Amino acid sequence: MFFRLFSLIFLLIATQTAVAKSTTLESIRYWTDATRSRLVFDLTQEAKGQQVFQLDKPNRLVIDLKNTRISSALKQPAKDHVLFRSVRSGIRNKTDLRVVVDLKRSASSDSFTLKPNKKQGHRLVVDLLSPKSAMQADKKVYKAVAKKTAIAAVKKTAKVEKKAIKSISQYGRDIIVAIDAGHGGKDPGAHGPKGTQEKKVVFAIAKKLQALINKKPGMKAIMVRKGDYFIKLRKRIEIARAAKADLFISIHADAFKSSKVKGASVFTLSNRGASSEAARWLARNENAADLVGGVNLGDKDDDLAMVLMDLSQTATKEASKKVAKKVLNNFGSIGHLHQRHVQKAGFLVLKSPDIPSILVETAFISNPSEERKLNSAKHQRKMAKAIYKGVLSYFEQYAPADTYIARNSNQKHVIARGETLSEIAQQYGVSMRSLKIVNALATTQIRVGQVLKIPRG
Ligand SMILES: [Zn+2]
Repeated sequence: MFFRLFSLIFLLIATQTAVAKSTTLESIRYWTDATRSRLVFDLTQEAKGQQVFQLDKPNRLVIDLKNTRISSALKQPAKDHVLFRSVRSGIRNKTDLRVVVDLKRSASSDSFTLKPNKKQGHRLVVDLLSPKSAMQADKKVYKAVAKKTAIAAVKKTAKVEKKAIKSISQYGRDIIVAIDAGHGGKDPGAHGPKGTQEKKVVFAIAKKLQALINKKPGMKAIMVRKGDYFIKLRKRIEIARAAKADLFISIHADAFKSSKVKGASVFTLSNRGASSEAARWLARNENAADLVGGVNLGDKDDDLAMVLMDLSQTATKEASKKVAKKVLNNFGSIGHLHQRHVQKAGFLVLKSPDIPSILVETAFISNPSEERKLNSAKHQRKMAKAIYKGVLSYFEQYAPADTYIARNSNQKHVIARGETLSEIAQQYGVSMRSLKIVNALATTQIRVGQVLKIPRG
């Protein structure tokens, strides 16, 4: 302990000595070209806290160097030097060095330090511009100021625009739907008995779905793949996230070993992987797409995906299930369903922990009659519309509060036991007064089972 204390004190003294060690000015060098005259101060340490300034009558340049000594007499400039007349030095405040350079005329100056290189040590460089280049420098400054003014003007315009955008956003933002047409490029997906490629028909359905969504005010659809090219499954999730998607829909039309199997199914992600044999089979095929792309994700990556899934909010899963149900109901109304319930499978593409995601198997391409339907533009539109209707009915009920749809919907609230009007007003972010007006309530009394209209927030 005692030894430790001793060594600490020693260390403190040593450090202080190092700090106190003064810099030595070893030499001054002069250098001139058409635009400037340069002074180079060779120092043993980095110059710190130095001051460079000019005085007139007579014109002179002053360089104050903190805690610096001089090693030998300073070299004088050449007698015919264009700018420098002579150099002298003196001690200031006991430890500082003042170097005075007498000038033949005034000149604008600039100084900077240079760190050691292979040939030279620490340097302080002082440049003095010739009158002509000084004028050019002034012009440069003038130009810079002009540029700055221009930038400020542009910024101001941007601010005004931002304000305008903000006022639009007060009406609510668009709901973003990412549409993922399965497969693409070198990965054709499944084949029908007549050779129909899954990637082509699902892209056609996806485009039709996009058109339907984009027609609806307050909704915007983006295509994860915009043409016939391959995108890895994880990249598809990234694209949706980059677009700030509220929903991710992957569209497929797969095959099964039996050509009799037909109908649509809607999947959400399962935690424990596939929940039925067919789902397992499909999951294997969809996930195999990453192998087609030339990269095997391996077990580790999937483990990471599972960890992410565990961290995901129950809300995402719940939302996915709700959308899936709505879409499934609409498929039910246009024809044959393969599965009457929402299926769960470990599709990699559904693994966004924060974006509700569903995978729609529009039909079985392996079934001859469904292959025919998948190629029909009319039927493609029907399937797109079934998905659209499901998505729309979901968002009419569960649109995020900051969206246009949420703010313009005719929301209703069924009063549950124990609820009060003020609680309901708070829940929807509306005033008690507007709640009373919209529902023609004379008092704040409400009863269980009563349906309240919720005004726009
Ligand atoms: Zn597929």
